[in-house]
Amino acid sequence: MRSTAGERAPVPKGTLDDFVCPDCKAPLADLRCVACDREYRQVDGFPILLSGDPRFEAVQATAAVYDEIYRRQQGVWENQGRTRELIAYFATLLTRFPSGRFLEIGCGEGFLLTAVRAEERFATDLSVEALRAARARTAARFSVALGERLPFPDESFDLVASVGVMEHFFDIGEALRETRRVLRPGGHCIVLTHVELTLWERLEDKISAYLFPELRLRALARWLQTRLIERPRPAALVRQPIQNRYTTRAARVMLETNGLEVVDVLHTRRRKGLPLVGPWVVIYIARK
Ligand SMILES: [Zn+2]
Repeated sequence: MRSTAGERAPVPKGTLDDFVCPDCKAPLADLRCVACDREYRQVDGFPILLSGDPRFEAVQATAAVYDEIYRRQQGVWENQGRTRELIAYFATLLTRFPSGRFLEIGCGEGFLLTAVRAEERFATDLSVEALRAARARTAARFSVALGERLPFPDESFDLVASVGVMEHFFDIGEALRETRRVLRPGGHCIVLTHVELTLWERLEDKISAYLFPELRLRALARWLQTRLIERPRPAALVRQPIQNRYTTRAARVMLETNGLEVVDVLHTRRRKGLPLVGPWVVIYIARK
């Protein structure tokens, strides 16, 4: 059924020919699935390729929440760690891997996408508002799609990335299996996610920050002061509809049980100086 890259007739850029039905993975002809006959629409030029599965019926409401977030604000995630430094670092990290065909799941306003060098760039998000902002920033083939039901044929991509998305999936297992499906054998997926630190990891983080190998009593005193006296004022966090919670280890296990071999795990508890906003931010590098 599947044609290999070698046999595939060249597809003119900007057409919808590479999308498939998110549910049955059959080709689309004029946005109509040739197998299940479901018809998909476009909004402002973006194909809306959302699942018809009742399991994901909450997706419309979730997409509306994100549309509202992106309508109200620009640079939505910048104060939550998606800083320029992080984007630059993450884009450089991606250059370590072959990226002929690149997919970003949950591209938001397209800051990372803009920084990524790849021959062909694809990007999904649940929010049309986010995609509008991304399209104004950079060229890519955009679609509204769920990570759990990606509208691409098997083995389409050399590299798949997501930043701050995995903790908001409806069904992480299904989203990871979809990531694996659309990756070519040997392809990589690079995922940044927020984890819950275990008590030991918190302790370890404070020990390495203040006690060992370097005793930093003044810094420790300052930290204690912020904890005990001036309650730290949390940045205005955007409330998101789904917030999955898992530890550093549990996230790794999820990747591996879904067929993605973790080859590196990056966080500031191990490597000081990474431009990550806190010890709970973890980047997993995995291979199919
Ligand atoms: Zn279909």
